[in-house]
Amino acid sequence: MSKDASIAEPKVSDTKEGGSQVDDAVEQSLYAKRQKIYPREVHGLFAALRTAGVAILLGLYYIVPWLQWDGRQAVLFDLPERKFYVLNMVFWPQDFFYLTLLLIVSALGLFFVTALAGRVWCGYACPQTVWTEAFLWIERKVEGSRPRQMKLDKEPNSFRKIRIKATKHFLWIVFALFTGLTFVGYFSPMRELAANFVTFNNGPWEMFWIYFYALATYGNAGWLREQVCMYMCPYARFQSAMFDKDTMIISFDESRGLPKGPRKKTADKTAAGLGDCIDCTICVQVCPTGIDIRDGLQYQCIGCAACIDACDDVMDKMGYERGLIRYTTENTLQGKHTHIFRPRVILYAMILMGVTAGAFYSILTRTPVAMDVIRDRNSLYRETNDGLIENVYIIKLMNMDKQAHTYSLSVQGIPELLLKKDIDDISVKSGEVIELPVRVQVDADNLKQRSNEISFTLDALDDELHIVEDARFLGPAFK
Ligand code: SF4
Ligand code: SF4
Repeated sequence: MSKDASIAEPKVSDTKEGGSQVDDAVEQSLYAKRQKIYPREVHGLFAALRTAGVAILLGLYYIVPWLQWDGRQAVLFDLPERKFYVLNMVFWPQDFFYLTLLLIVSALGLFFVTALAGRVWCGYACPQTVWTEAFLWIERKVEGSRPRQMKLDKEPNSFRKIRIKATKHFLWIVFALFTGLTFVGYFSPMRELAANFVTFNNGPWEMFWIYFYALATYGNAGWLREQVCMYMCPYARFQSAMFDKDTMIISFDESRGLPKGPRKKTADKTAAGLGDCIDCTICVQVCPTGIDIRDGLQYQCIGCAACIDACDDVMDKMGYERGLIRYTTENTLQGKHTHIFRPRVILYAMILMGVTAGAFYSILTRTPVAMDVIRDRNSLYRETNDGLIENVYIIKLMNMDKQAHTYSLSVQGIPELLLKKDIDDISVKSGEVIELPVRVQVDADNLKQRSNEISFTLDALDDELHIVEDARFLGPAFK
């Protein structure tokens, strides 16, 4: 839709005389051009926390793929090999369960933190916030402070303006490419990837994802910024379901701040009938989403606390008490008691602790060998020359341990079961997958039914590894 797209249908209404008349056309534009937001730089406690958060999170993101562990990359999701290395652990596609657990723990963690402290995730740790902060920092370094940026944008094109803008975009693109390269470095060995990137020798898929992720970073953090939070992020929309009157939110204290109005520092605000808000609008100027927190809690507020720092600074200059804008709860603002430990918080915390403890226990006690038993589907069963009933299986073994193992295999479930295999020693190297055809035989007299439950047991001869896998043994129908 073009920016001038509008509804401009003539409105026809009945007249008392039974006729009709065409009213003036009612134009209602459905498009509002985005007003560029120039967030003013802010200093203070929460700005320092946000900067520390950005430094730690971005530092981890860019450094982790370069770390080595036991002669290999410490964190590597090797998709072609289908192995996921995390420090000294190796996960396989069979361990998908742990990824599910990780997602559940992350979601529960987000619910818990949101119920307790509102949108701290958005304000301090969300990748969109973190990279936008980094891009804003580059922008300020190149274009200068907020007033300078606004002035530059209003200027007609000139060599100076083009040079400044080109420098900013060049730095953004370099940073975005480095981000894309690092992202792919979690899936493809980082050192080779970086060396090949410099010489343009990466494979097509690696190049595609490096450029794709770089483009996404450049677009989201450089251009879209607050629009991602306001229009694209679903979390902003459903967070209200996790809020209650005891949730920590960033609020303007109306009882203290209103009526707002400018005044001299030396003025007697009580005599002038004014509250503490001097209507300087600095809290609006620092807001990365461009909202006015004095209008109340809005879904566009990402909880970055920039307005708290800004307003505290103003309060200090005016000689007023800090905290006109602060972290508080709706109950506190209404003079009521705030309950930190309330049912939903306790419930989220208990589920979170339970699932996290279960996940850790499961990972620590995980058996680094997997066995799949696949029945030969070509025949239900066959009768051997000795008159025994025979079923054929393929035993698929995966040694997920860091060392080779030799295993013994046995089968149970029906009296006098015989296990026939072509090799005596089942030796599997670290990271190896083998397929072992085996035949299981039994006297028909020992079968009580057509389909019988049996189980294969695998024991490592050089370790305590032990796993059991169930299967079915089929025989002739009984009359
Ligand atoms: S920064 Fe504080 S004093 Fe200034 S307009 Fe905002 S709330 Fe009022
Ligand atoms: S209103 Fe305050 S906390 Fe919310 S996004 Fe704006 S500056 Fe950040």
